[in-house]
Amino acid sequence: MPQKLETSFQTTAVSPAASESEVKAPLYVKVAVPLHVSQTFTYRLPETARELAHVGSRVLVPLGRSAVTGFIVELLPDLSSHRTFTDSDIRSVEKVLDPTPLITPEVLEITRWVSQYYGSPWGEVLKAALPPGINPNSEQLFTLTPKGLARVGELDSEDTAEGRVLRALAHAGELNGETLIKLVGKREASRTAKELQIRGLVATHLRFATAGARPRTQRIVQLSKLPGAEERAPRKVTPAQQRILDALSNQQTVPLPELLRVAGVSISAVNTLHKYGQLEIAEENVRRDPLALATLPQVDEYTLTGAQNQVLSQIEPPLRSGAYGAFLLHGVTGSGKTEVYLRAMRISLELGRAAMMLVPEIALTPVFSRRLRSNFGDQVAIFHSSLSKGERFDEWVRVKTGAARIVIGTRSGVFAPIANLGLVIVDEEHESTYRQQDSPRYNGRDTAIVRAQKENAVVILGSATPSLESFHNSQTGKYQYLQLPSRIGDRPMASARIVDMREVFARHKKPRVFSEELLEAIEATHKKGEQSIILLNRRGYSSFVLCRSCGETIQCPNCDVTLTYHRSERVIVCHYCNHREPAPEKCPACDGKYIYYVGEGTEQIEAMLTKLFATLRIARIDRDTATRRGAFEKSLFDFSAGKIDMLVGTQMLAKGHDFPNVTLVGVVSVDAGLALPDFRAAERTFQLITQVAGRAGRGERPGRVLIQTYHPNHYALRHACAQDYSGFYREEIRHRQNHGYPPFVSLASLLLHGTALGKVRADALELRKELDLANQERSCRILGPAPAPLARLKGEHRFQVLVKSRSRKQLRKVVDTALDAVMGRGQNLRAINLEIDPVSIM
Ligand code: ADP
Ligand code: ZN
Repeated sequence: MPQKLETSFQTTAVSPAASESEVKAPLYVKVAVPLHVSQTFTYRLPETARELAHVGSRVLVPLGRSAVTGFIVELLPDLSSHRTFTDSDIRSVEKVLDPTPLITPEVLEITRWVSQYYGSPWGEVLKAALPPGINPNSEQLFTLTPKGLARVGELDSEDTAEGRVLRALAHAGELNGETLIKLVGKREASRTAKELQIRGLVATHLRFATAGARPRTQRIVQLSKLPGAEERAPRKVTPAQQRILDALSNQQTVPLPELLRVAGVSISAVNTLHKYGQLEIAEENVRRDPLALATLPQVDEYTLTGAQNQVLSQIEPPLRSGAYGAFLLHGVTGSGKTEVYLRAMRISLELGRAAMMLVPEIALTPVFSRRLRSNFGDQVAIFHSSLSKGERFDEWVRVKTGAARIVIGTRSGVFAPIANLGLVIVDEEHESTYRQQDSPRYNGRDTAIVRAQKENAVVILGSATPSLESFHNSQTGKYQYLQLPSRIGDRPMASARIVDMREVFARHKKPRVFSEELLEAIEATHKKGEQSIILLNRRGYSSFVLCRSCGETIQCPNCDVTLTYHRSERVIVCHYCNHREPAPEKCPACDGKYIYYVGEGTEQIEAMLTKLFATLRIARIDRDTATRRGAFEKSLFDFSAGKIDMLVGTQMLAKGHDFPNVTLVGVVSVDAGLALPDFRAAERTFQLITQVAGRAGRGERPGRVLIQTYHPNHYALRHACAQDYSGFYREEIRHRQNHGYPPFVSLASLLLHGTALGKVRADALELRKELDLANQERSCRILGPAPAPLARLKGEHRFQVLVKSRSRKQLRKVVDTALDAVMGRGQNLRAINLEIDPVSIM
C-alpha cells in the first residue's frame, strides 16, 4: 500500500474545492488517479511546482513502484484535514503537467457527482472526460547493474529464464516489461524480474512517453516583411523561384504543400529563397474536422406548427431566465422534435449560452451533426469515439477554448468542457446505450440531467417511447411533460399488424421463417418500386449449431452461450468474447455428419431473401458490417438514393433514419427479446416495435409494419401495434409496482466475477453476509447470490447479488458499508462490478 487511504469507500462528502485565491501557496494536493481505487491520494508539492498547481491540472505522481498521471482535485495549505498521517508519510508530486488546468470547474463537479453516485473511481471518470491519448504513459525499464553485468560473464550456455533475461539485457542495454514477457512468458517474467532485483543484478527505472493526441501543424509560407529583405535577395532569380514569389505576391500566407503544388516547384527552391531571407516560414495548427468532406443539408426555415410553438413556449421561460428546468418531450418520430431542439439551441446561443445534445449511438451522429452544422456552422463540435484521436483532440480543444459552443455527442459528450451551459438535449432518452457498461460506470442521460441542474440549464429529454422512469417522473411533476402528438403534415403512422406464427406453424406442420403474409408484402412493395426494412435481433447466420444425431450444441469455451455460425467466413463465433473457430464439418461430440443450424441470423435471412427474390437488391446492416468505418453510412446512403431495395439488419436499423420511400417493415421475430430474463424485456420490445413503426411511411405513401411472433397476445405487442403508449404504461407500471422494480425501488446490482468458481461463489456469499449485517434495519431487500443470467463470460464465472430499496439513500448506505467491509478483508474491488440503477439485470 503506497499511500494511506484517506476516504473510505463510503462517499463521505468531499469538501468543495476551495477557490484558489483563498489557498496561499498550497503545500499539498489531493489527487484522483485513473485506477480502480475509490480513494484520492495526497501528495506534497515541491517548491517549484507550487505556482503551477491548479485544481484540474494533471500531475505525474508516484504510486507504488510506478508513476501515474492523476488529476489535482483539491489544493491543501496543510495536512490539518488528515488526522491519520503526517508529512513524512507523504510522497511528492513529480511534475505538474498542465500550467492551465485541463479539467474545468464544471467538469470537475459533474465527474465528482458521477463518482459518488455510481461508485466509479473519480480518476477514471476524469480520464473518460478527456480525449484519449492526452495522458503520458509511463513504463518500467530494466537495466543491468555492474553486478548483473559481471554475472552475464559467468553464465554458461544453459537456457534458463534468468540466463535469457540477463543475456538480452546485456545485448540491448534496457528492456521493458513487454519484451521480458515475450522472452520468458508472463508468469516467469515477473518472478524472474523480481528475483534479479532482489539479488541486485537488475535495476529498474521509469520512462515517460507521451502517447497519442497533439495538435496537427503545417508549415505556412509568406513573403518576408522584415526590413532589408530586398538587399539580401539573390542576384539572379531562377524561374522556379520567380513562380514562388508570384504565388505569394498577394501578401497572403500559403500552406507549404499548396505552394509547392501551385508554383510547381520542389522544396529546395523554397529553402533557397528562405535562406536568402525572402520568405518567412511558420508553423500553424491545422484543424482536423470530422465533417470536412461531408455534404451538408440545406437549412430549412419552417414556420413552426401550433404544437411545436406550444412546446417551445414552455421551454423558453426557464431558458431565458437562466433557471433549471427539466422537460420530457414525447413525440412520435417525424413529429418535429428535432426542429424544436434546433430552435431552443438558437435561443440559447442568442443568450450567449452554450448547448449540448446527446444521442444514443455513434450511428446517429452523422445525420444530426450535419443538420446542426448547416444550422450553426463551425460552432458545432462533435464528440464520439469513432472519430480519429486527432479529430477528437481538436474538437475537444475547440470546446475548451470556447470556439465551439454546441456539442453533439454520445454519452461521454456529457463531460465536454463547455462553459456557460444553457441547454442540454438528450434525444431518444429511453435508449440503454446511455448506460456505460464498463468502468467508469454511469448513465449519460441521468448525468446530463444532473449537470443541467448544477449549471442552471434547461434539459429536454426527447423520445417517441419514453422510458418508464421518465414518464413516471413527468406524472409526478419532476419533469414537465410536453407532447407533439402527431406527425408533421399529419402523415399517418404506419399501421402495425401482428402475424401469428402459431397459425403458420399449424398450416405447414413445421416452423417457417417467413409467413406468407410477409412474403406477399415484400413482393408487393418491391413491385411498386418502394423499399422495405427487415429486422432481426441476431447477427450471423444461425443462432447455434446442433447435431441431429446426438443433440450436441457447440458452446463457447469461455462463455455460457452457444456459438453463432457466420457463413460468409465459415466460422462459428461467440458474440460476447469474439472467440472464433472454423465451422465444424462433423459433430465434435459424436462424429455424426448431420450438423444442423438452428435459428436464423441476419446473414441467413439475407441469404434466404436473396434466393426468394432474385431481383431484390439487398444490403445487410448489423454490428458485423458496421465495424468498417463508413460501411454503415454507405449502405444507408445507397438505400436513401434508391440503389438498394431492402435493408436487412438488427435493431441498429430501427433508429433515427428517415427514408421516405420505405413502406414496409417486417420484424422476423420478436420472441427472443420478449423472453429475456430482465425486468425491462417488455418495455424494450414495446420501444423496438414503436420505433420500427416510425420507420415505415415517412414519405407520402402510407407504411405497413408486420410483426411475426408466437406470443400474439402479449400486452407489449398489443399496445405497440395500437400505438398506445399510455395503455402500455398503465399495464407495465402496475407490473413494476407489484414486483418491486424501478421506478418504485432503487436497484443496485453487484456482480462478482473470477476464474475460480469456488472462490467467486464464496466471495458472493461473503458479500451477502455483509449486506445482511448492514441491513439490520431491513430497509433493503437483498436477492442472491445467484449465478448471473450469463453465468460464464470470457472465461470467468459470474454471480449476482441484487439489492432493492424504496430509499436510495439507504440502498447506498447498505451497499457501501458492505463493500467497505469486504474490501477491508482483502477483497479485490475490481472483481465486483457495482451498478447503481442498472438498465438491465442480465
Ligand atoms: P423528429 O425529430 O420528431 O423525428 P423532425 O424534427 O426531424 O422530427 O421533423 C420531421 C420532418 O418534418 C423533417 O423532415 C423536418 O424537416 C420536417 N419538419 C419539422 N418541422 C416542420 C415544420 N414546422 N414545418 C414543416 N416541416 C417540418
Ligand atoms: Zn465467448
